[in-house]
Parts: sequence; C-alpha cells; structure tokens
Amino acid sequence: MKTTKAKMTRTTTKPAAPESRLAMVRRARRINRELAEVYPYAHPELDFRNPFELLVATVLSAQTTDLRVNQTTPALFAAYPTPEDMAAADPERVEELIRPTGFFRAKTRSLIGLSTAIRDNFGGEVPGRLDDLVTLPGVGRKTANVVLGNAFGVPGITVDTHFGRLVRRWKWTDREDPEKVEADVAAIFPKSEWTMLSHRVVFHGRRVCHSRKPACGACPIAPLCPSYGEGETDPEKAKKLLKYELGGYPGQRLSPPPDYPGEPAPPLGAE
Ligand code: SF4
Repeated sequence: MKTTKAKMTRTTTKPAAPESRLAMVRRARRINRELAEVYPYAHPELDFRNPFELLVATVLSAQTTDLRVNQTTPALFAAYPTPEDMAAADPERVEELIRPTGFFRAKTRSLIGLSTAIRDNFGGEVPGRLDDLVTLPGVGRKTANVVLGNAFGVPGITVDTHFGRLVRRWKWTDREDPEKVEADVAAIFPKSEWTMLSHRVVFHGRRVCHSRKPACGACPIAPLCPSYGEGETDPEKAKKLLKYELGGYPGQRLSPPPDYPGEPAPPLGAE
C-alpha cells in the first residue's frame, strides 16, 4: 500500500519545467503587444502643457491620485506659471493651493526648492538630462524619467507602485528595488518601447490588475499571466472590478487626448 501511494505521489507532483529566459522574454513582448492593442490611447494621466508643469504635477502626484493632482494644478499654474514665479512664491499660499494633494508642506518645500534651483542653476529652463533632473529637490529617478519620457521624448521606464507590482506578477523580475526592476525590464525591451510600455503597464494596473483584487476573469492578457487566479476569476464579478473607461467611468485627466474613449474627469468639487 505504502509503495503504491509513493508511486502515485511521484507521478502526480512532477513540477513544471521552469520557464527559460528566452520564453519569458517572448511572453513579455507579447504582453506588451497585447496591452498596446487594449490601450492604444495610453498616455500620461497628469495634465500638463510644458516640462515645468509636468515636473510640478509629478512631484505632487506622490501619495495621491493623478485625478486629485489634475484638479489642483489649474489654480496653481495660473498663480505661478514659471519657475521664477514659483521660486518667489509665498510658501503659505502654495500650501493652501496644493493642500488637497496631501503632504502639502513637504511638497511646497520641494516645489519652491526645485523652482529656485531651475532659476539659479539652469537658466530658468527645466533640464532635459537625468543627471541634472535628480539634483533638483524632491526629484528622484522616477520623477525624472516621467519628465524625460513625456516632455523631452527621451525613452524612460517609470517604476511606480503599479509597474513594480505588475512586472513581478508577470515574473519579468523578482526584485523589489525600483532601480533594479528598471534595469531588469530595460534588458527585455528595446529603448524605443520604454516610455509607452510604462504607460500601458500603469494603465493596466490602475484599471484591471489592482493591488488587492486583480480582475483576472476580465483580464485580456490572462493566458499570458503566471499569476492568473491571484484575483477574481469569475468573469461577471471581475467585470465589476474594472475602473476608469473600462468600467464605464470618467478618466483621470480634465483634458484627455482626443482618442481617449472615456469621459474627462470632473473638476475639483464636482465629484
Ligand atoms: S491575470 Fe490577474 S494577475 Fe495576471 S495580469 Fe491579469 S489581472 Fe493581473
């Protein structure tokens, strides 16, 4: 009896062969292609008209939603349209304007500090190089890459909380440190894909592959995902978890691009 049981165990628990690096790279590139079909309109979800506005909006987006930032920045940019204006701002007035984004004292220090540095060290223009951007107060690698990729057309991978979570679920990396994640993903894709890949992954994380309840049953890349089943697999229940335009709701931008299929976000106070 014992022998039979042992035999059965041996035949039924044969582990699947680990995925080769080549197979993982092929699967990753397929995921990127599929996401490009699902989100042909993927874009930065912060409203901005120039590199300075994008830099400020990205600093404000820490620990809050892009929607909240977009609802806050019109009044801020009307009051302080240039780095010179913001460098000379009264901190209390800035705090008041950006209060809805949270951590408003620290963010005010960053905004006035980075504006002063741009005025004094870079002739009043946001620098277009990573090494220069990260010298600005409150600007880390992630913020610098957002600005480079979207205001200067320099390819960049932006590892935020969504990006890190999804690429670990997809087994593109098993590392936590954002710089290491960036390096691992950079090794899988050509540079020309980096910026749009970042938008697509973040779009998918915000709409479908949520942190606590991923909508696996409504996920277009489920067949390519080794973490399928981590979330809701029932198609009807999963559909109810979809957010923004996929769930039939407004997006995060007050002025979305023309090809965006959903409604624009409501202005502050109209939610
Ligand atoms: S199948 Fe589930 S875990 Fe995988 S990407 Fe889709 S929602 Fe995320």
